[in-house]
Amino acid sequence: MKCYFCLEEREPSDEHVFPLAIGGALVCKRVCVDCNSELGNKVDGGLNNHPLIVLKREKHGLTGNSGKIPNFLEHLENSHIAGDENAKIRLTKNKRGEIVPYHIYRATETRIGDDTYLREISIDYSDKKNIPKIIERERKRNGMKKLSKEELDKEVSEILEKGPVTVDMPKISSSLKVDLSSFRRCMMKIAYELACMWLGDQYLDDPTADRLRKIIMGIDEESPENGIKIVFGTDGMLFPFLRGQEETHAAALSEINNSIIICLKIFNTISTAIVVTERADLYISNPLDKKARRCLVNNIKTNRYRNWSIVAEHIHCCFRRLCMQSVSPHAVLYLQRHCTS
Ligand SMILES: [Zn+2]
Repeated sequence: MKCYFCLEEREPSDEHVFPLAIGGALVCKRVCVDCNSELGNKVDGGLNNHPLIVLKREKHGLTGNSGKIPNFLEHLENSHIAGDENAKIRLTKNKRGEIVPYHIYRATETRIGDDTYLREISIDYSDKKNIPKIIERERKRNGMKKLSKEELDKEVSEILEKGPVTVDMPKISSSLKVDLSSFRRCMMKIAYELACMWLGDQYLDDPTADRLRKIIMGIDEESPENGIKIVFGTDGMLFPFLRGQEETHAAALSEINNSIIICLKIFNTISTAIVVTERADLYISNPLDKKARRCLVNNIKTNRYRNWSIVAEHIHCCFRRLCMQSVSPHAVLYLQRHCTS
């Protein structure tokens, strides 16, 4: 098998066109093991770990290979009580899925005399069992004698008697970094693999295919000079017939001015239109050519995909809507059986 990326004859592996971590079901068998792991390590993560995509993965319970549902809260940085940058907070979720702030250990030292300092330590109330350990550690650190068990118990009970300092409905300030470029390589990877699958091996020699391959594999940087045309939009604009279908990823091929464009949407979050070749005439001989109207819709809930023509997809979506308005489901079944060209 000739690998779509290194173009060498190698053993195939299972490469998910839409990454597995976002519920991708379509598997491509034309990527070698080495290129597949390179894509997994350096390309797919840019999309899978994009904070807006993490929100959707968490909402839909998409674990990917790790088996762990991602936690959007882990992407928040520098969380603290608003107005006090030193009161650091970690946001966690309890079993009911409610957000719970956790106060991070904090120690402050204030000089109160010539050689005297007041050391104040604050911890989260859930860690109160650690108070004896903290007292012993601080005393040792400052060369003070070890307390007897009774003295230590007395000191701990005095602290606990005061009770915790509580803040009702605290305002918490956090920062979130959003990388606006790293997911682009993954969008290019999806478009490139679909172009290879839909247009055939002839596409591997296309100059645009060569440029896309080099950017995806990190050999070249993406820049205006290397002629990759990529546009970002809303999925409502690129896939009006799938509007509102958040549980799908989709791809569609279209031809404009002798260029072939692959439009993509990931959930209802990211959409792109990528020019995969400027020589459509090499691949599409006439407007009725099946290659000219390819469409793929990947459902993350059923883990299935429809890989057919955009006409069939349009009709499918129309019938689906009609079906919801009580038209016989047999009509939809009939259509699914007969529109798979
Ligand atoms: Zn390879």
